[in-house]
Amino acid sequence: MPAEHSDLAPALTRPKPRQLQLQWQMQYACNYRCPYCVYEGWWPEVLQDDRPDIPMADWIKAWRRVHLKYGSSDIFITGGEPSYYLGFVDLLKAMTEIHYVSFDTNLSWSWPDLRRFVAEVGKRRIRLDTSFHSHTAELGEFIAKAVFLKDNGINYVCRLVAWPPLLARVDFFREGFAKAGVTFVVYPFQGVYEGREYPASYTESERSLILGRTADLKGDANNGEQPDLVKHIMNIHREKPLGRMCRSGFIYARVMPDGTVYRCGPYQFRRWDPLGNVFDEGFALREEPTLCRSQFCEFEYRYLVDEG
Ligand code: SF4
Repeated sequence: MPAEHSDLAPALTRPKPRQLQLQWQMQYACNYRCPYCVYEGWWPEVLQDDRPDIPMADWIKAWRRVHLKYGSSDIFITGGEPSYYLGFVDLLKAMTEIHYVSFDTNLSWSWPDLRRFVAEVGKRRIRLDTSFHSHTAELGEFIAKAVFLKDNGINYVCRLVAWPPLLARVDFFREGFAKAGVTFVVYPFQGVYEGREYPASYTESERSLILGRTADLKGDANNGEQPDLVKHIMNIHREKPLGRMCRSGFIYARVMPDGTVYRCGPYQFRRWDPLGNVFDEGFALREEPTLCRSQFCEFEYRYLVDEG
């Protein structure tokens, strides 16, 4: 849990039956088109499911209901590029009053926007998972923004997706971030490249290259979970979740741009068993872990009961 979590005002530390982790797929819109994006080749279809017309006030009301029912939860906002959402900084201000918030970003923000974010949201209950996309972003500019976050005491991590054509440059990027004293983690690519499935197709030396010294982060106050996350993604193809008890839907779920809630990614992709809609007054998660009916899982297999 990020260090800021211990700084909560008493009103936000109300007793809760369980600590929820909710991934909010806020929107799909993005200003980048990275070749390794999970949506590449599907953008027209994906963007059809966007709901930019849902007013921010409705979302905040829904998240307040979640807070009332379950207490302050860990909300991870992802996209698309979440900062593309109109009024994103205002949304973060409202959300961090009631929940712990982290979000994905390509950090393509203008400097004035970044400064406003730091000045108005600051380090209260917030964390940024930034992704360096070398096809579009400029390395020096990206690192300068990461240094700005670090110098202002904001929780962050910088990530790179180990798309096979980028492997030859991993050490170069890693050195650039290290020189600036910025935390940098390489994530395995999940998808197909030149007919080969990844991460299953990485060679042993490629796996070592990707892992680098990520294990050194174990025990780090802000990024201690990174080694396990990378390891989980690297081993996704080895997991067979079918028939195992899973806590997704109980302590974890995914909230979609229209408010529909699924227990996890594999269920969402197949539109299996929606748990309800976060805009419904009576929305609730399940009361206990339930069996998984999927043949495969994403990084969420860490919610399997026997994964601990
Ligand atoms: S193991 Fe994975 S696919 Fe199965 S229910 Fe849990 S999170 Fe979903």
